[in-house]
Amino acid sequence: MKYNVVHRGDEISVRTKDRFHELAVRYGMTLDEQCPDIVVSIGGDGTMLQAFHQYVDRLQSTSFVGIHTGHLGFYADWNPDEVESLVRHMAEDPDALSRTVKYPLVDICITTTRGKEHHVALNEFTLKGVEGTLVAELRINDQRFEMFRGDGICISTPSGSTAYNRSLNGAILHPSLEAIQIAEMASINNRVYRTLGSSIVLPKHHHCDIIPKPGHTILLTLDHLSVQLSDLISIRSTVAEQKVSFARFRPFPFWNRVRDAFIGDIVE
Ligand code: NAD
Repeated sequence: MKYNVVHRGDEISVRTKDRFHELAVRYGMTLDEQCPDIVVSIGGDGTMLQAFHQYVDRLQSTSFVGIHTGHLGFYADWNPDEVESLVRHMAEDPDALSRTVKYPLVDICITTTRGKEHHVALNEFTLKGVEGTLVAELRINDQRFEMFRGDGICISTPSGSTAYNRSLNGAILHPSLEAIQIAEMASINNRVYRTLGSSIVLPKHHHCDIIPKPGHTILLTLDHLSVQLSDLISIRSTVAEQKVSFARFRPFPFWNRVRDAFIGDIVE
């Protein structure tokens, strides 16, 4: 099996990476930075976001697995003590590459005065005004929905619903649902301005267009990446055609991860 490692660069992650390479050689795996079958992210959820964007053009043929060197992550559920067990699974399990779960992504099509470009996000993309309030029209399936005024808008994937979206009081969606969620950031609601005020979930094949007021500079974030645009015309978001594959060598149900990350021990 061909693999590569993306790591956070801190001391524990570097040590874990070295150990992984050592074991990979022992178990007959091949290091391939260009075309890996599997990418091992060592660090936290942010490291997995980096790994995802590094290999975003190979989602059809690459799967991901995460080792957490800090607290338990949503995308990083192996701990450094289990590296040998993980390498053994990868090298010796004949079905290793087919043991994956596939999670939906959000596709965004950005139209600027320079043309159109598509991107996908694993967690979410957000839109904020740089000079102050974001003023933007929201259209759902080509119908006017609302005029948004506020800090910004967050459009997340189901697996990203536990990240930024959760801080905005959005719902947590199971990643088996092919959907995207639109959550507001501090919308202005009074007798003049009105937005829905709650987050909404769009199914596959629906689309949402965000059309900011012309002449405003917009901050666009895509997972951990960000860019300022002063010539943005609109952004269309949909459930992406591609999905991301995570290698699953042992079960770790999504709701258990949600419980362990946000609730912890249950007190009777
Ligand atoms: P970071 O290192 O500051 O990460 C922020 C936190 O988000 C970390 O604790 C990380 O474990 C957690 N996280 C990331 N993905 C998650 C997921 N799918 N479910 C649950 N928790 C998750 O920042 P970064 O490494 O640049 O990561 C970027 C991400 O940070 C963005 O995709 C966004 O979701 C998140 N973020 C959250 C807020 C917020 O909650 N107010 C604000 C900005 C960014």
